[in-house]
This record gives sequence, structure tokens and C-alpha cells, in this order.
Amino acid sequence: MIRDRVPLAPLTTLEVGGPARHFVEADDDAAVVEALRWAVARGLPIAILGGGSNVVVPDAGFDGLVVRVAPRGRQFQPLAGGTVAVTAAAGEPWDDLVAETVARGLAGLECLSGIPGLAGATPIQNVGAYGQEVAETLQAVRVLDRATLQVRELDGAACAFGYRDSRFKREPDAFVVLGVTFVLRPGAPAVRYPELAAALASNVAPSVGDVRAAVLALRARKSMVLRADDPNRRSAGSFFTNPIVDAAVADEVARRAAAPQMPRFPAGPGRVKLSAGWLIEQAGFTKGTRRGAVGISTAHALALVNLGGARTDELVALASEIIAAVRDRLGVTLAPEPVLLGATWPLPA
Ligand SMILES: Cc1cc2nc3c(=O)[nH]c(=O)nc-3n(C[C@H](O)[C@H](O)[C@H](O)COP(=O)(O)OP(=O)(O)OC[C@H]3O[C@@H](n4cnc5c(N)ncnc54)[C@H](O)[C@@H]3O)c2cc1C
Repeated sequence: MIRDRVPLAPLTTLEVGGPARHFVEADDDAAVVEALRWAVARGLPIAILGGGSNVVVPDAGFDGLVVRVAPRGRQFQPLAGGTVAVTAAAGEPWDDLVAETVARGLAGLECLSGIPGLAGATPIQNVGAYGQEVAETLQAVRVLDRATLQVRELDGAACAFGYRDSRFKREPDAFVVLGVTFVLRPGAPAVRYPELAAALASNVAPSVGDVRAAVLALRARKSMVLRADDPNRRSAGSFFTNPIVDAAVADEVARRAAAPQMPRFPAGPGRVKLSAGWLIEQAGFTKGTRRGAVGISTAHALALVNLGGARTDELVALASEIIAAVRDRLGVTLAPEPVLLGATWPLPA
């Protein structure tokens, strides 16, 4: 059922922004198709919403139809060779799916424990954490092609995944994700990320369950799991992606920061990934910085938070201030990770 003037802020983790002119919760694939047809027939713009944990709603809201993609269901199908195909409809809560794979002793998603949102959004920015990303195990994405309204299946290569990036992010109006299929294997978990390895140092043979528990504990310390009593809870997680730059640029950033020990990670031939949180702190923004009703999380320099009753404009102003300071001080331009619903970020480029 299509409803009018529906507030969107409560449907997002940041809890900012205005209403949708029209809104529908689509519980199955046919309802998604019907909603798209309805909007197209009226010439209305369409926005797709999942769990609202990586989206910022403009103060003006969205002047079209917002479709919340919410079909449910998950299946586990054993394959030859001992692997298991795990299929989830787009509306499955992501962390419930991860918890079930871990409970079944399957490896492949354990480091992605505790990430909010729905399964259907995970291919959009190639969700990743603690040395793992969905692209590693995602076998197929079932999509609705918005041009033809036909259902198609895309394999991993067709999704063109990159760091926090995919074809879906680059072509935001092309597809609605209806479901995802991962191929997981029983066995040893991934312990590649130094912070995770350190947390598990006393465990010679950690299980996937041990890794999930360690990841959840590390995330909780950084306010990166959603908890109703956490004052940092109104966020979109990391607000900026970690910049990937040429090695020579990284050297120059370290020189400007007078920090030869600057955190830097290999990111392909001649390329280096920098820590956006470190850059933000170097530019003078400490955890807990406040600007009216918005601020930087007290637990993580990379998370911008709504401290209660914030406007999106205030959030944009703080993000702009941070981008300008990091650029002026260190010569790197940070890019936002969340999507501004139906609009282009009004941020310094
Ligand atoms: C506390 C916190 C911690 C986080 N930690 C991480 C982390 O460690 N790693 C990480 O990668 N992300 C992290 N995130 C970001 C976010 O949780 C993920 O990106 C998540 O996958 C977003 O899912 P969602 O359902 O909330 O998507 P939404 O926020 O609703 O949507 C995000 C984008 O995907 C599009 N979209 C959503 N569903 C569909 C669909 N079915 N079809 C087509 N397009 C769709 C939307 O249009 C929008 O552009 C974190 C967020 C928070 C609040």
C-alpha cells in the first residue's frame, strides 16, 4: 500500500531528514515491480531504501516514491565438494544471516558480523570489515532490471566490485537487488586484519564463532554496532571512505603530517590506502568534537553522529568543514561513504 508524506528519518540510523512524498514497503518481488510501475506511470523519481544504515535523507525529504525493499527468506543448499550456497532475499537482516552462517560453522562472512542493514544492500558498496568483503564469496545477485522490469542474475564479475564500490553504486538507477547468493565453506575463518589477529592472539585455532565474537567486541568498543543506549548510535557508521592514493601522494601526506609512521596499507601496484580516521584526527578534529546537534563519535573519528534533533544541513556543514581541513592540511580530499538519498552531496570536491 502506497502511503503519502511518510517521515524517513525514523527509517534511517542517522535519524535525520524529511519525508517521502510517497512510500511503500515491498514485501515480495511482485510488490517491487508494482511499485516501480506505479511511479513510472506518474513520472515520479524512485529511491530504493533498505535498512537505512548507509543513507542520509535531505532535510527536504524525497519528492517521489521511496520503495523499501523488504522480501524475506533464506536458504542453505549443500553443494558438491562440501561448500554451501547461502541465498537470502534482499530484506533479510544482514547480521541475522551472518549469525546463522557462523552457527552452521560456515566461513566467509564471519568478519562482517555486526554490520547493520539488510542483505540486499551489501553488494551496493561491497560491504567490508576486518579484512573481509562480500565480493570474496558473493556468487550471484538476483536483480530487477529497472529499464525492462525483468529479473536477471548477475555473477560477481558483472557486479564490478571495488573497495566500497560496485556497478550498483556507479549505476544507482539501473537495478533493484532482490536477493544475494554466497558460496561458503565449512572450516577455518579469515584472520587477516592485524587488530583482529591481536584480539585472537591467545587462541591458536579460532573457530568462525570465535571470530564473530571478537569482531562484535571490537566493533562495540568503537560504537560500530547499533545499541539503543549508546549516545553515538545515530550514525551511518564510517562517514568517509579510506582514500586510495598513489604511493608518492602518501609520502607527501606523511611529510605534511610530519608523521613517518602514518598508517598506510598496500592497495594494488603503486597504490596506498590511507586511514580516513587518522587523517581527520591529524587535521585537528578529535573524537567527541561537537557542532550544535551534530558531532564526531566519541568512540571513532570516522563516524559523524546526530546527537539528537539534528538537521541534515548541519551534518553536511560538519562534513564540509572536515573535508576542507583535511585537504588544506594534508592535501587529500575525503569522499563520503553514505548516499544522500535522491541527491548529489553538496560537499567540497
Ligand atoms: C554503526 C554502523 C556500522 C557500519 N559498519 C559498516 C562496516 O563495517 N562496513 C561497511 O561496509 N558498512 C558499514 N556500515 C554501513 C551500512 O551498514 C552498510 O553499507 C549496509 O550494507 C547498508 O545496508 P542498508 O540496508 O541499511 O542500506 P540503506 O542504507 O538503506 O541503503 C544504502 C544504499 O543502497 C541502496 N540499496 C539498499 N537496498 C537496495 C536494494 N535492495 N537494491 C538496490 N539498492 C539498494 C540504497 O538506495 C542506498 O543507495 C555501517 C553502518 C552503521 C550505522
